[in-house]
Amino acid sequence: MLRRTVVTSLAASAAAPAFGDTYPSRPISLVVPFAAGGPTDLMARIVGEHMARELGQQFVIDNATGAAGTIAVGKVARAVPDGYTISIGHLGTHVANGSIYRNLSYDLLTDLVPVARLPSNPMLIVTANAMPTHTLKELVGYLKANPDRISGGTAGMGSGSHLGALAFFGATGAKYQLVPYRGTGPAVQDLIANQIQVMVDQSSNSLPHVRAGKIRAYAVTARARSAAMPDIATAAEAGYPMEVAIWHGLWAPKGTPTEIVAKLNGAAIATLQDPAIRARMEDLGQDLPTPAEMAPAAFGDFHRAEFAKWKKILGDAAVKVE
Ligand code: ASP
Repeated sequence: MLRRTVVTSLAASAAAPAFGDTYPSRPISLVVPFAAGGPTDLMARIVGEHMARELGQQFVIDNATGAAGTIAVGKVARAVPDGYTISIGHLGTHVANGSIYRNLSYDLLTDLVPVARLPSNPMLIVTANAMPTHTLKELVGYLKANPDRISGGTAGMGSGSHLGALAFFGATGAKYQLVPYRGTGPAVQDLIANQIQVMVDQSSNSLPHVRAGKIRAYAVTARARSAAMPDIATAAEAGYPMEVAIWHGLWAPKGTPTEIVAKLNGAAIATLQDPAIRARMEDLGQDLPTPAEMAPAAFGDFHRAEFAKWKKILGDAAVKVE
């Protein structure tokens, strides 16, 4: 009996362990492209904390800020592909930047592999309470009457808030000066303090401050009103149709073993099935992807389609950084 037990365990250890079998055996670094306290950081902390529980290992948040996320994404693209360094980002960092920055040191479609699609977030057009305007029409009129006097925050060229500002300019014909920050967490604090006056910001970042009466919301950039903020009209209702939603995702460096990607994907799917996490995300206005949409292959197809779509939009708008 004893002999048989030993033989069995020897046989098991003699078989080469599959790559993913022992993974993860140490903490995983989740590289966040923007400052702490902003929407991408919040997504990373909510998702990372629960994925850590699923996988039995800590997720360490690494806010590698600057250059609209290109520093963080480059860091992951060059990391050892062993599942211990992964990238969280969104439509801006992993799509728009590929069309805007001419000299990226990595290729967004080939130097990273898709791990899981994460929630998508419509944006809110918001201003400082000190602005004398209360409707979107009034805001547009005020911006047109005061060219160059009003500043608006973004997280840099190619960030979600920059894409939101471009959509706003396109839909309304109004403009404001763009002030880049290391993330919209710090930017919204300056909006509260009236250091800047306007933002097109992800609802997960601005809605809590709107609810607290610290800033003023004008419209949501979605086709329909959101259940999380039913009193806020769509921009189209005010006569300026615009739709921008910032979807998020997780990626790993090219060459990461598929077993490891599958483990991470399973943990991400379990995370977004958790009722408390769903409720928290939905309360911030996030739309959650289905497990089928979250699968690596489906997410990869979606990512490529978005890349092609935004290459055309940004190419036509001639938005470029050397
Ligand atoms: N996601 C935000 C943006 O793209 C930045 C941030 O997360 O701080 O504007």
